[in-house]
Amino acid sequence: MKLDATDLRYVTGDEFRVLTAVEMGSKNHEVVPTSLITQISGLRNGGVNKIIGSLAKRNLVAKVQNSRYDGYRLTYGGYDFLAMRALSKRDSMYSVGNQIGVGKESDIHIVADNEGKEMVLKLHRLAAQKEWAFMKVLHEHGFPVPTPFDQARHCILMEFIDAYPLRQIADIPSPGKLYSSLMDIIVRFARAGLIHGDFNEFNILIRRETGEPVVIDFPQMVSTSHENAEWYFNRDVECIKTFFRRRFKYESALYPKFRRTLANEEGGEDFQLDVVVAASGFSRKDMKILEEYMDEVEEADTGSSDEVESEESEDDMQDVPELSSKKEIVDTASVHSPPPLQNRSISPTASDEEP
Ligand code: ADP
Ligand code: MG
Repeated sequence: MKLDATDLRYVTGDEFRVLTAVEMGSKNHEVVPTSLITQISGLRNGGVNKIIGSLAKRNLVAKVQNSRYDGYRLTYGGYDFLAMRALSKRDSMYSVGNQIGVGKESDIHIVADNEGKEMVLKLHRLAAQKEWAFMKVLHEHGFPVPTPFDQARHCILMEFIDAYPLRQIADIPSPGKLYSSLMDIIVRFARAGLIHGDFNEFNILIRRETGEPVVIDFPQMVSTSHENAEWYFNRDVECIKTFFRRRFKYESALYPKFRRTLANEEGGEDFQLDVVVAASGFSRKDMKILEEYMDEVEEADTGSSDEVESEESEDDMQDVPELSSKKEIVDTASVHSPPPLQNRSISPTASDEEP
């Protein structure tokens, strides 16, 4: 989907009214009848038809021919528009720039505020509220994550990190230091009651200037009290071990173990972020809906999560500067074998369907 900054500024008040009416109508109609759009918008009939036509031309709404009646639905583009308009109304952002990434479940754009400061706008296809809740508490508690700025509907506005994803890094001066600071982050997460759940080279950014890691992408985070927490924890640890072995030929006998990490009081956090998140407005009900959705996606997925490794071309890879020294991981207990749980990796979900 292409975003257009001019579109954002030059939608008329009436067009916005009609688009909002379509969104409101969608709450109880899959296809919103034109008569309902007219009624909600409070505009005159003839005017509404013309406006719907112009919104449809710009792909903000789509006409759907129903068996019983014709009507419209909001497209992802329309949903994106409403969210960005909300963010720009609050002066959180002003203009929209290039798309810099397409993730598994999102589009990532560079945007700016009215002073030209660049930020990242992540348009989610799923779970923005959950990611927002996690990013906020993690940031407030000093974890290396982007600064979260604002959230509306399915969008998150956050700090732009001048960095390379770890997967693009060909060589580093001392892989051991990065390895241990990443394992450290996994341990800090766990001691705060959380497991990232997708802690891999795609979701770890390496700052261009300092070589320090920044973690992104939180919609799948789970609590350490989740029934399969240990399995998720081990998978995160394993992702890092495997990546360092394959990419940097680096192996270490030291890596964190779930039970030891939780049992070790020393260095433990005095806050439980899973509890904080639950209290932050992302309710148990939201979590349940999300988990059901993820299970559905998982069932539809035939499971090919391993093929992400080492397929990318080496020419876009970078060297990074030396990391500042970090403490070593000191935990060498035996490995726990994972319970028989399928891989929860999520496959592409970007479709042009009704939000
Ligand atoms: P997904 O949930 O779809 O995997 P991510 O949050 O992992 O989305 O983002 C996808 C890509 O976009 C990342 O791999 C990274 O290259 C880029 N990106 C995301 N957030 C930022 C950010 N705050 N700063 C810079 N780049 C980012
Ligand atoms: Mg990601």
